[in-house]
Amino acid sequence: MAAPSVVVIGAGQAGSDTAAALRSQGFGGRITLVGAEGVLPYQRPPLSKQFLAGTRSSTDLALRPASFHTAQDIEFVGQDPAVRLDRAGARVLLASGRSLGYQHLVLALGARPRRLTVPGAGLDGVLTLRTLTDAGRLRDGMRDAGHLLVIGGGFVGLEVAATARAAGLEVTVVEAGARLLARSVSGAMSAHLLAEHRAHGVRVLLSREVTALRGDGAGHVREAELDGGERIAADLVVVGIGALPEVGPAADAGLAVDDGILVDAFLRTSDPAVHAVGDCARFPGPHTGRPVRLESVQNAADQARCVAATLCGNPRPYAALPWFWTEQYGLRLQIAGLGDGHDRVLTVGDPSTGRFSLLCYRGRQLLATESVNQPADHMITRRLMGAGGPLPAPEEAARPGFGFKAFQQAASV
Ligand SMILES: Cc1cc2nc3c(=O)[nH]c(=O)nc-3n(C[C@H](O)[C@H](O)[C@H](O)COP(=O)(O)OP(=O)(O)OC[C@H]3O[C@@H](n4cnc5c(N)ncnc54)[C@H](O)[C@@H]3O)c2cc1C
Repeated sequence: MAAPSVVVIGAGQAGSDTAAALRSQGFGGRITLVGAEGVLPYQRPPLSKQFLAGTRSSTDLALRPASFHTAQDIEFVGQDPAVRLDRAGARVLLASGRSLGYQHLVLALGARPRRLTVPGAGLDGVLTLRTLTDAGRLRDGMRDAGHLLVIGGGFVGLEVAATARAAGLEVTVVEAGARLLARSVSGAMSAHLLAEHRAHGVRVLLSREVTALRGDGAGHVREAELDGGERIAADLVVVGIGALPEVGPAADAGLAVDDGILVDAFLRTSDPAVHAVGDCARFPGPHTGRPVRLESVQNAADQARCVAATLCGNPRPYAALPWFWTEQYGLRLQIAGLGDGHDRVLTVGDPSTGRFSLLCYRGRQLLATESVNQPADHMITRRLMGAGGPLPAPEEAARPGFGFKAFQQAASV
C-alpha cells in the first residue's frame, strides 16, 4: 500500500509549521509543501518592524533553512501556486501543470491586503504590505520619500508609521474610525497608542477618510485629499486597511466559505479530507462562542500543531488561547485573550511609567489582558487564562498594589 500523503497548500507560517509538526508528531508518509512565493517560508512580523528598519535581512527571516526540508523529507515546491482543487479525484493542480495526489489536504492560504478603491489608488508609490517583496519595495521607497501617508490605523499601519518615523520621515496616519485599533484593543489602549504616536511626532487624524490620491506627471503619488477637502503632502502611501482571507481555490472547489474557509472545531472544512489553518480559516472560537478568524502567528502555529495531531491519529479540538504582540517605538504590547465585548477596563501599574497592564472584564470574567512592556504580566495571565484560571476577580485586581506575580504565588499555594 502506498504511504499516506499530505499536501499543504500555502508555505507561510501555518503551512510551514504544519509540515514540520507532522514530522515531529511522527507522520511517516509523503509531505509536499506548495508555495506561491519564490522564497522559503518566512516570518512576516519583522516586515513592518526590523526588516523595514534595516536591522534584519531577508535571509534572517526564513522560518526554517532549506536543509530542514531535506532532512525532514518534506518536498518544498516554491513559486508554483495551486490553481485548482479536484476534490473528487483527490488531486491539486499547480500553475506549472503539475498535479499532486493527496489523502489529506491542508489549506494554509493566508490573507491578502484589502485594496483601496479611491481615485489614484493605482499611482506609483501607493503600496500595501504583506510579502517580503512588498516590504522590499516599501523599504526602497522610504529611502527617497519625505512624507509617508499611512491609510488605516491598524497594527500593520501603526508599525510602519513607527518605523518610518524612527527613520526620520514625516508621517501622517489617517484612520476612518473614531480610534486606533478599534477592533483589537480597549479604548484605553487606543488612547495610549495615540498619545505615543503623537509624542513621536506622527500626525494622526481620526474619523477622517482619504477620498483621492493625486500624482505628478510621471504618475507618482504626491498628495492626498481628505473628506472635507483638506490636502496633505504624500510621496509614499501605505494602505493598511485590513486583510481579506485567501479563499479562491477553496471556494472554486465548492468548500463552505464565509469570510474565510469555514472549519469545525477540528479545523476540518466541509470536506473531511481537507483542513484549513491560519489566517484563511474561520473556526468556532472556544473563547468567544462564535466563529472567528484570527490573523496572528500564535493562531497559525497552534492550528498547525492541532491539524498535525489530527492527521497523526490524535484528534483534539482546537482550543488554544489567542495571544498577540506588536512593537511600536520602544513599546511592546502583548495581548492575551480576546477582549471583544468587555464592559470594564482596570489598570495594573502606572501608564505614565510606560509599563502597565490593562485588564478587560465582562462582568466578573477576565476576557483579555493588554500588557505594555510588562512581559511577566503577559506570560502569567496567558498561562492562567490558558489553564482556565485562577484569575483575579475585578475587585481584587482593582486593589491598590495588586500585582500578577504575587497573585500567582498566592494562587499556587
Ligand atoms: C507586516 C505584517 C506584520 C505582522 N506582525 C505580526 C505580529 O507582530 N504578531 C503577530 O502575531 N502577527 C503578525 N502578523 C500576522 C502574521 O504574520 C500572520 O497571521 C501569519 O503570517 C499567518 O500565517 P498564514 O500561514 O496563515 O498566512 P501567510 O503567512 O500569509 O502564508 C500564506 C501563504 O500562502 C500562499 N498562498 C496563497 N494562495 C496560494 C495558492 N493558491 N497556492 C500556493 N500558495 C498560496 C501565500 O503566498 C503565502 O505565502 C503580521 C503580518 C504582516 C503582513
